[in-house]
Amino acid sequence: MQGKLNVQTENIFPVIKKFLYSDHEIFLRELISNAVDATQKLNTLASRGEFKGELGDLTINVSIDSKKKTLTVSDRGIGMTADEVEKYINQIAFSGVTDFMEKYKDSHEPLIGHFGLGFYSAFMVSNKVEIVTKSWRDQPAQHWSCDGNPEFTMTDDPRTERGTDIILHIADDCAEFLEETTILQLLRKYCRFMPVAIRFGEESVWVDSETECDKDGNPKRVEKKQPRIINDTTPAWKKAPSSLSDDDYRKFYHELFPTNFEDPLFQIHLNVDFPFNLTGILYFPKVRRTIDPNRNKIQLYCNQVFVTDQVEGVVPDYLMLLHGVLDSPDIPLNVSRSYLQSDSNVKKISSHISKKVADKLEEMSKAKIESSTDEATQNQDNSQNTTFKSQLEEKWDDIKIFVQYGMLTDEKFAERAMKFYLLKNTEGQYFTLESYREKIKALQTDKDKTVCYLYASNTDDEHTYIEKARAKGYDVLLMDSPLESHFVNLLEQKIEKTRFVRVDSDTVEKLIPHDDAIPEKLSQDEKDKLKPIVEAALDKQKFTVMLESMESDDSPMLVTQSEFMRRYREMAQSSGGGMSFYGELPESYNLVVNINHPLIGRILAESDTTKQQTLVGQLTDLALLSAGLLKGEALSRFLKRSVDMI
Ligand code: ADP
Repeated sequence: MQGKLNVQTENIFPVIKKFLYSDHEIFLRELISNAVDATQKLNTLASRGEFKGELGDLTINVSIDSKKKTLTVSDRGIGMTADEVEKYINQIAFSGVTDFMEKYKDSHEPLIGHFGLGFYSAFMVSNKVEIVTKSWRDQPAQHWSCDGNPEFTMTDDPRTERGTDIILHIADDCAEFLEETTILQLLRKYCRFMPVAIRFGEESVWVDSETECDKDGNPKRVEKKQPRIINDTTPAWKKAPSSLSDDDYRKFYHELFPTNFEDPLFQIHLNVDFPFNLTGILYFPKVRRTIDPNRNKIQLYCNQVFVTDQVEGVVPDYLMLLHGVLDSPDIPLNVSRSYLQSDSNVKKISSHISKKVADKLEEMSKAKIESSTDEATQNQDNSQNTTFKSQLEEKWDDIKIFVQYGMLTDEKFAERAMKFYLLKNTEGQYFTLESYREKIKALQTDKDKTVCYLYASNTDDEHTYIEKARAKGYDVLLMDSPLESHFVNLLEQKIEKTRFVRVDSDTVEKLIPHDDAIPEKLSQDEKDKLKPIVEAALDKQKFTVMLESMESDDSPMLVTQSEFMRRYREMAQSSGGGMSFYGELPESYNLVVNINHPLIGRILAESDTTKQQTLVGQLTDLALLSAGLLKGEALSRFLKRSVDMI
């Protein structure tokens, strides 16, 4: 028989060749998906008792013949009768899967299908395609052949074995598809978890010899060839969570990402079948310093067929920091990204995942685990030293940025996370937002009834300031992630009557202003005299001198940096562009002079100007030094002066 494919096909060949050119490797995924479907259909027929013959070995075979320049995909599935080839192959508007799904709606075996061009994508890489197929029904085998024009031939074929061979005559400009390494790589990319075994060539393994022994009488190790099966037909995400141990999850992680050597922290196994179908495993990797590297580590599958690892729009941005697999037949494939983002199933799936992640973190914040103190480890009988902490606490430092990023970018997630978000203080203790407020409320509420949360970005650099705050009985948080300045803003919005101040942004009295002002020891005249003396010792562009009434035993001088200015500079730096106004703010500091300190009185009383300058120089340098700002020549000058003074 000869024929011409229907009119639609005439337009589709150039489309196949040109439009999909960039993605032409997917032809292999399409053909193997068809082979998997055909095999699953046979399984379904067998389980329903409609097919009574021998199933035999159902392995799908992929092979290259470099002499004939062909690539063949063979399956032992249901095959096609002449009528079926006519209907499913020649009239491409008909999808066999649609028919089959209608008929076997409630079957258990999922069908892949619906990838768009399907079988015809073979023409992206071939100048001729042949099909040799024998149906499971008792009908003659068929040989179909088409060279890319809409003309095709179809004849009976002597083949007796059930199943289908798709033979691609690879076009000269696609010769890479005749190379073993290319095909192997594509099979590993697209077919690694398909549900029917796929064989491609052979591989060598080392086994104990059955006949030969070494000189000690042990069996010799010999090389043996065996069929190379390229896929894992039952990947972990398809299994019941209860049947998997932590170790199984870890192993699967490394199977998915062979180049990630670090173990994941924990995982979420997704398993939904209503109102949409979704399975998958999402792993939490360590996210320590930045939110950028290692994105695109979520692979999207459709019934175990790899679709893409570009999941922008399918999952919320912050979830892209996670690693793992998502498998859903309900995500539309081969459509544009903007379409994908507006798809209602995609939206539902995305908010479901987001909710699951929040649930998991909340659950971990409730699960307590034993945490022994050092003493307890030394003396194991001493059970009094055993304390408990939450699972979340244990992992917190590694996932904090993830949670912050989620809260900053996803309103709903932020709402949920307020319940489990942890603050860590400079002593290494963790608190929920609620318990922390309880802890500091009494001492750290200012005269306007605002609760002031003190924090440091670096315990070494801000050591002096932290000590001062602690001496007052205040608690100091450690907030050291790159997102912190944005995050602090968010918390100030979310928690009423709250202010965050970094410990070095003001004098300890002013960090949390209370009503009880300290009486001043200097008159206005004396203050007017003092100010220019101190100013003369400093770079006026950078420092503003401020006279403050502080405790007489507090530091004589102190460097502070306005919370507002610093925070906005940092935000501008980390968000790049957009906030350039703040980005251009010069770095500026305050030099606070404690007018109640005896040494300040001495400066005023000193009549010898050289001695006065030395004293001012020494005090300002000490203040700069404790803020980490005394460097280079200024530092050398200070050291020399100090030695001279001794
Ligand atoms: P889709 O798979 O999306 O339905 P295709 O163009 O890939 O579209 O395939 C069309 C139809 O041809 C399939 O639905 C199926 O009925 C039939 N078919 C394709 N490949 C095979 C195969 N290897 N064995 C049996 N039937 C096949």
